[in-house]
Amino acid sequence: MSTDAVIVGGGVAGLTAATYTARAGVDTTVVTDGESTLARNAHLENVPGFPLGVNARTFLDLCVEGAQEAGATFEEGRVTRVESTDDGFTVETVDGASFAVDTVIAASWSDASYLADVDGVGFLDRGSKTFVDADEAGRTGVDGLYAAGRLAEQPHQTVVCAGHGATVALALVHDADVPYYHDWVTPEGYFTERDRQVPPGCVEIPADERREREARANERMREAFTEPRGEEPTMHPSVVAAREDDGEH
Ligand SMILES: Cc1cc2nc3c(=O)[nH]c(=O)nc-3n(C[C@H](O)[C@H](O)[C@H](O)COP(=O)(O)OP(=O)(O)OC[C@H]3O[C@@H](n4cnc5c(N)ncnc54)[C@H](O)[C@@H]3O)c2cc1C
Repeated sequence: MSTDAVIVGGGVAGLTAATYTARAGVDTTVVTDGESTLARNAHLENVPGFPLGVNARTFLDLCVEGAQEAGATFEEGRVTRVESTDDGFTVETVDGASFAVDTVIAASWSDASYLADVDGVGFLDRGSKTFVDADEAGRTGVDGLYAAGRLAEQPHQTVVCAGHGATVALALVHDADVPYYHDWVTPEGYFTERDRQVPPGCVEIPADERREREARANERMREAFTEPRGEEPTMHPSVVAAREDDGEH
């Protein structure tokens, strides 16, 4: 039986979750509104693979592209309500769009308000912030509903939230009984020359395809990093307001 998922929030946790669910064959839609907190970062310096750091917006754009390459689709819209139904969930946006799905991953730091009508979801109020109560794998206690990233009270760090998105996606894949082992790309013969079937989720590729994939990947990275980005980081709203006040006086 096929499974589908809406992932609410296209930040680092949601984008990583979407990459994993889509690669596992889950029909995945990311519904997102606004920009990731990471757009406030001035230069992202603690992500593995980027020894001198990386522009946070370039990193985010590449994460979006990765999720799209994996097969996820994207819808712009602020999610205002999730309703539990006999078959799963209905996810509604402020513009009146509605998605009926088996599973939902809430990865929408810092908005959990749209989950208020789902019986059984716990919320953790910490000062001005509200987190969704979930176990380490993002399970909320409501079957089919998960929380990922900062919204699930993970440390406020890109790699941790991205990794958590992957963990939560794999929990969803496991719970939905999607045939899956790991989503590895291996050299031809890695399994089959040991008389093993290629496990579900894995693929063996021949040497010419490996070289072709590497060439495409290198070319895409060259394009992505040729020009510096023009945008300024997004400033904290209270600093913007204070600067405007200073300008007025
Ligand atoms: C100034 C600043 C600098 C930072 N610098 C670093 C750094 O150098 N290194 C580091 O590791 N981490 C850094 N971080 C932390 C990092 O940005 C976050 O930990 C990470 O982005 C959290 O990922 P997330 O996916 O949980 O949330 P986010 O990346 O914030 O994504 C949440 C997404 O959900 C969307 N959304 C919210 N509500 C809804 C809704 N109702 N419907 C639809 N979409 C919704 C948001 O618009 C957003 O796109 C920084 C954070 C800040 C504020």
